[in-house]
Amino acid sequence: MLRIYDTRARQVEEIAAGRALRMYTCGPTVYRHAHVGNLRTYVLSDLIRRVLERRRVRVLACQNITDVGHLTDSGADKVLEQAQAEQRSVRELARFYEDAFKDDTAALNIRPPEHMPRATETIDVMIELIAKLIEQGHAYVVPDGSVFFDVQTFPTYGDISGNRLDALKPAHRIDTVDPRKRFHADWALWKPFAGELTWDSPWGRGFPGWHVECSAMSLRFLGSRFEVHVGGIDLRFPHHEDERAQSDSAVGHEVVRHWVHGEHLLFDGRKMAKSTGNVVLLSDVVADGLDPLAVRMAFLEHRYRQQLNLTWDTLRAADRTVRRWRARVAEWSESPSAPMASEYAQRVESAFDDDLDTPSALRILRELERDPSVAPGAKFETFLHIDQVLGLDLSTEIGKARVLPPGAGELLEARARARTAGDWGESDRLRDLLAEMGVRVADTPEGQTWS
Ligand code: AMP
Ligand code: ZN
Repeated sequence: MLRIYDTRARQVEEIAAGRALRMYTCGPTVYRHAHVGNLRTYVLSDLIRRVLERRRVRVLACQNITDVGHLTDSGADKVLEQAQAEQRSVRELARFYEDAFKDDTAALNIRPPEHMPRATETIDVMIELIAKLIEQGHAYVVPDGSVFFDVQTFPTYGDISGNRLDALKPAHRIDTVDPRKRFHADWALWKPFAGELTWDSPWGRGFPGWHVECSAMSLRFLGSRFEVHVGGIDLRFPHHEDERAQSDSAVGHEVVRHWVHGEHLLFDGRKMAKSTGNVVLLSDVVADGLDPLAVRMAFLEHRYRQQLNLTWDTLRAADRTVRRWRARVAEWSESPSAPMASEYAQRVESAFDDDLDTPSALRILRELERDPSVAPGAKFETFLHIDQVLGLDLSTEIGKARVLPPGAGELLEARARARTAGDWGESDRLRDLLAEMGVRVADTPEGQTWS
């Protein structure tokens, strides 16, 4: 069974899944295109799902769509700000980038989560949760209609990231602590505001804070206990600490069993981010003539817990590997069928189970690719089996008509006869003739193949 690094436990732990497992992933804020750094995090969730499904565990996944409530440091809503900049309505903007996100994740073979709730359509669930937290004494209302979470009522705050309350300094960017807060680390659950994208609430008109969204949605769609929570490493603090404080306070026990975080993607040595100015979109990769799944391959070449420094060279190398494996699989598919190379398959699967050690899995597959003692039919079966986890569409070239140049068919037959007769000189002569026609011949234990 899958063992994975649990950020809160600070160690690799076996995922205790019965026949089903519930997984929550912090979804995208849909005010701009997701860059390939963001997409790395969603490939991580997809990998967890595929590895578990291979072990016959049914995975129920929920991933929110943040279309309101994601605040910038200055307190402005990113979605609202961008809509104003693009002179579109908020709804138009959010739906456009949501569709773009779904296209990108589909191109990366990321299976869609069972639930993809939009923040704007679940405001009632958030209001209900905020009201409960107020009633329990975990949150308080201030005269302007804001609601804050009272972090001092949650003693284990900081368990995930190690950022203990007593060590937290007031935000250095703000000179004075917000006088409305009881404690500087309290955060807003509800913000008073009038205008587009606001809702009525018991505390007046406004909109919810971002952190409360994930608590409300995970509790609603996955229930009060679930096994895995995934996000990028930057979300450990404060987002996941805040989420844990809200959810656990509301239900009175630990909600999430394992917190899993994916490391950052760097591009040319720096964290990929809009603010850094080194954003690469999936559409940029495709415009460069690469297969979108080259990006997935490049991710798999690194373990999710390592920073990955992507470059155009690594992307091109990944693209070549994906294309070569597809061609090989097509070639092997023409050989007599043979059972899977089970020893190799087991080694690859153990690597997956070992905290998603995909680099080792790929190394073992390269070894299998080269191993002359394994029949092509067995390689074919093994690669297709493992591709259920890799998700690289390795079968797409199978059966694609390959047309021989005129006269080459006869030369191939003559060469096969020469080899049966042990006439190696003639065989080599015919191989060179074929090469001049652009037909590359390879000899395998099952006879010659060409490409
Ligand atoms: P956002 O849409 O900004 O909320 O981010 C969506 C997801 O992408 C979050 O899980 C982030 O932690 C993650 N993320 C953001 N930047 C990177 C990066 N450079 N590498 C990997 N993950 C990232
Ligand atoms: Zn979240």
